[in-house]
Amino acid sequence: MDTSSTIAYFTMEIGLDTAMPTYSGGLGVLAGDTVQSAADMGIPMVVVSLLHRKGYFYQRLDGNGRQTEEPVEWPVEDFVQRLEPTVEVVLAGRPVRIRAWVYEVKGYKGAVVPVLLLDTDVEGNDEQARALTDRLYGGDLRYRLCQEAVLGMGGTRMLRALGFNNLRRFHMNEGHAALLTLELLDAAMKDERVSVDEAIESVRKQCIFTTHTPVPAGHDQFDMDLVRDTLGGHKAFEMPNVFCCDNRLNMTYLALNLSHYVNGVAKKHGEVSRQLFANYRIDSITNGVHAERWTCPPFRALYDHYIPGWCEDNFSLRYALSIPVEKIRAAHLEAKRELMNHVNHLDNSGMDLETFTIGYARRATAYKRPDLIFSDLERLRAIAGAAPIQMVFAGKAHPKDEQGKQLIRTIHAARASLRPHIRLSYVPNYDMEIGQWLTSGVDLWLNTPQPPMEASGTSGMKAALNGVPSLSILDGWWIEGCIEGITGWAIGTPLTNNSDEDSRARDAASLYDKLEHTILPLYYGDPKAFTTVMAHAIALNGSFFNTQRMVQQYAVRGYLL
Ligand SMILES: *Cc1c(COP(=O)(O)O)cnc(C)c1O
Repeated sequence: MDTSSTIAYFTMEIGLDTAMPTYSGGLGVLAGDTVQSAADMGIPMVVVSLLHRKGYFYQRLDGNGRQTEEPVEWPVEDFVQRLEPTVEVVLAGRPVRIRAWVYEVKGYKGAVVPVLLLDTDVEGNDEQARALTDRLYGGDLRYRLCQEAVLGMGGTRMLRALGFNNLRRFHMNEGHAALLTLELLDAAMKDERVSVDEAIESVRKQCIFTTHTPVPAGHDQFDMDLVRDTLGGHKAFEMPNVFCCDNRLNMTYLALNLSHYVNGVAKKHGEVSRQLFANYRIDSITNGVHAERWTCPPFRALYDHYIPGWCEDNFSLRYALSIPVEKIRAAHLEAKRELMNHVNHLDNSGMDLETFTIGYARRATAYKRPDLIFSDLERLRAIAGAAPIQMVFAGKAHPKDEQGKQLIRTIHAARASLRPHIRLSYVPNYDMEIGQWLTSGVDLWLNTPQPPMEASGTSGMKAALNGVPSLSILDGWWIEGCIEGITGWAIGTPLTNNSDEDSRARDAASLYDKLEHTILPLYYGDPKAFTTVMAHAIALNGSFFNTQRMVQQYAVRGYLL
């Protein structure tokens, strides 16, 4: 098999099918969308991830918003096919056998990208080893390091065992996969005539790295004692300028040091990353979403009619401006009806079609400030008194994120206190399917992170494809996507100093002002003008913030050069 033009894409999580719990959030959904677009475009690619037999977790919420987590049981064999070869990595002195299951992503022209999901639940492994590919982002640091060794080192060995030799590039989606560089270094140094510097150079030529985290604490780090204990010795550990800093292995630095192309995931995130990692060349490629996958059926039908070929050429969504506004309105009402049916069925919240509906769904964690809109309940009640509002929320907190869990309870308390003036539903167990209903069925997509913490964000891009404008803090992709009053609205200004204590109050006030004085009057007072904003969200943002454009940029800047 000639795989010399194939890209190996490594990712700790990947959202392939809403019923496969192999993803937790944005990083995994991005991976799934990326791979689907690569398959569509016929870019030769093979993907490596883990099987995650027990998934991230199933979120249960009681009436007060108290979250409990349950392992997900999913019928692996219904979704993926077992492959024969096994490979081995040695962890803490003991061999761990790994097998792979394959899921095939098919492009619209028939190209197939195989996704290999690594599994250590293999005969011969002890119980501890068997559990290594069970839980996504679960366990302690040692568990995480072992998972990263299975992914990076085991994954590279598995590719070889399956005949993927001489691959063109190794693309690390976040630092979790950075241990693959050790495998590549070993391979390069097999030839005794190759110097250490030459080996490093040859690995750098093969690797590209996408960083997703704008805060230093978000980057994976392990004590070298733990690393040596788990992985054994390795020549690379003694190499200057490869492993970095205070006797710790920092996965981001490892990936930075051994990649010839590095990018952040939005323009602003590129800037922030260049400040964080001052000695590196870091480009930016702004994230996207898979247009067809995230467009709801009524809008797909509309685009098929007015913009034939939009799936093959997402740029043509710019012609959404020529779709009659009443058709856009009708398609949106259909999506909204679908959402209302789901939500009312789920929790009897009595949502209706006429009321302006705000949507918010993302990981419940402090920096995302999901409670910002509830900062001043009295003001919110007054605004809704003049122009009715209802809201749909969703999001999981990481099992160890107590603050995040508290935020879910805060929102439930706000819900009780806002009744009956404002109906609010918190949909449990946020996943891709719920994401699809929410981003297409609400009238406004809200995002209120603390800048500069949102590397990109992608759910607002899904909303745009469905004609749903955003009201968002100017951070991540929205700095690029927001044209005030045309594609949606900004909270605050880009010049606001966000580090001070008052920023929260200022942002909340700005949010209320925009709702009260701009968005609600437009929605209720001038529906045609509101629908024109919807059309511009599609034409200007749907046409650009998609993975078709994004993968083209990766190809030109990272894969081909
Ligand atoms: C799209 C998506 C995300 C990522 O959206 P953000 O705006 O980055 O939070 C997370 N989880 C699910 C289920 C999604 O569909």
